[in-house]
Amino acid sequence: MKCRMCGFEFDENKLENRGCVACGKHSNCNQVHCPRCGFGNHPELDEEFEFINKLKEKLRNRKKSTN
Ligand SMILES: [Zn+2]
Ligand SMILES: [Zn+2]
Repeated sequence: MKCRMCGFEFDENKLENRGCVACGKHSNCNQVHCPRCGFGNHPELDEEFEFINKLKEKLRNRKKSTN
């Protein structure tokens, strides 16, 4: 996969504990940590990311009618 933070490409399947040695969350961490910068990537949330981005766009386009 490709790290969202630094763009470094790595094989998440070759990482021990998904690279989660240093983050300290361990049991409840479902992120894949970039071996280069340590950023926690969410491989499962790709679709949600897009969903959120679209939602943000909607919110941005929507004028505040309240107030
Ligand atoms: Zn972690
Ligand atoms: Zn990275």
